[in-house]
Amino acid sequence: MQYVSTRGTAPGLGFEDVILTGLAADGGLYVPEQWPVLSDDEWRSLRGKSYADIALAVMSPFVAGAIEPGEFRQMINDAYAGFDHPAVTPLTQLDANHWLLELYHGPTLAFKDVALQLLVRLMNWALEKRDEYANVVVATSGDTGGAAIEAFRHSKRARVFCLHPDERVSPVQRRQMTTVDSPSIFNIAIKGTFDDCQDLVKAMFNHKEFRDKYKIAGVNSINWARIMAQVVYYATTALALGGPDRKVSFTVPTGNFGDIFAGYVAKKMGLPIDRLVIATNSNDILDRTVRTGRYEVTGVHETASPSMDIQVSSNFERVLFDLYDRDADKINSAMSGLKQSGAFSIDEPQLVKLRQLFASGRTDEEATAECIRQTLETTGKLIDPHTAVAYNVARNIDSVSPMVTLSTAHPAKFPAAVKKACGIDPALPPHMADLFERQEKYEILANDIDVVEDFIRSAGRDV
Ligand SMILES: *Cc1c(COP(=O)(O)O)cnc(C)c1O
Repeated sequence: MQYVSTRGTAPGLGFEDVILTGLAADGGLYVPEQWPVLSDDEWRSLRGKSYADIALAVMSPFVAGAIEPGEFRQMINDAYAGFDHPAVTPLTQLDANHWLLELYHGPTLAFKDVALQLLVRLMNWALEKRDEYANVVVATSGDTGGAAIEAFRHSKRARVFCLHPDERVSPVQRRQMTTVDSPSIFNIAIKGTFDDCQDLVKAMFNHKEFRDKYKIAGVNSINWARIMAQVVYYATTALALGGPDRKVSFTVPTGNFGDIFAGYVAKKMGLPIDRLVIATNSNDILDRTVRTGRYEVTGVHETASPSMDIQVSSNFERVLFDLYDRDADKINSAMSGLKQSGAFSIDEPQLVKLRQLFASGRTDEEATAECIRQTLETTGKLIDPHTAVAYNVARNIDSVSPMVTLSTAHPAKFPAAVKKACGIDPALPPHMADLFERQEKYEILANDIDVVEDFIRSAGRDV
């Protein structure tokens, strides 16, 4: 499989280069040259199979020609062996037509583990093969950082520099990152927002000399392998609920548009996905875009669902590329509009297509808390604020197909918000029970690209 950049001028690359490159050299994102499609019979033959079997079938077309199937299968087995549920991503039924897809059974209790546990194995494999080393830079709104650090802590090939917005992640999230004692992990709290952290990472990628000299690699959802790994649970869910012979809908708590974009890919691959619903918190740029056709950045609001406190949803560029029939010129002009004036408009024909693919909704802070409380009362299930943002949108939609809400984090990651909403203080699982006694280590740095690059120059792995 070959990959192309959404901005049209970076070279086409194979899978191995794509995962090590992260952001394309022209500032764009890599997508497969075409979407592989499985026939209904191929989908049917996967019913009742294990998570790992389905993962291999779904992801094989994307790695074709790059990795031996046996070797890939081993990586998949290893990646999901540490999950605490045999189904990896189990489904729970809430009422006659609503399900929760529990994506938080990995080591750091958020759905980011599903992709990062596989991505680290892919990157280590590629670096070993080339006998290279890398410095991985990560921007996190809270969960990617923990998942990346957990995944990379034992990597012999990569150091991780993790940028989180100072005082804007939950204490559990921060400690999951800052208490990992490993010589290859560096935590940096940036005086700014998540969008500032994401901009710093993108600036390092666009600084060619620095990027090449320090072999900068990325594991944010701009990295294609993250999206690829997330397509799998849309498939396991659709198959469990009757696919390909019955349609299924999904509501996704959305920040950087990576998770829901994986749902779009699943649909492109031939799964009968009825509706994909974008759920946002008060940072509602995507909900406004679907309603008005104008993608317009405003200020970031702090909410009880901090992993979605994002304004610029990087992966939206990937869907835009398809909406414009892969016309990179259109993407370049939209993105330069975004850079210059903080906004761009989607043309009418593309907006019509966008609305055929995605519905959207927004949940404010009060409704998030109310949803946590009501869900506990009516179903006995304790959900985290991100899940509540989505479930609140899902339950207000009239859906004839089964509606699955993606439950992206364990409630114990956000104990203060959960307790405030419903009075229950969710306990951390045993392997994290002493999280608040562990020693923290992190630097606080200014939101300044020179300062951050200097830090990486002095602490980075010689490459
Ligand atoms: C990252 C994250 C999201 C948002 O996912 P995107 O892929 O960025 O849209 C939602 N919920 C939780 C708990 C997260 O960690």
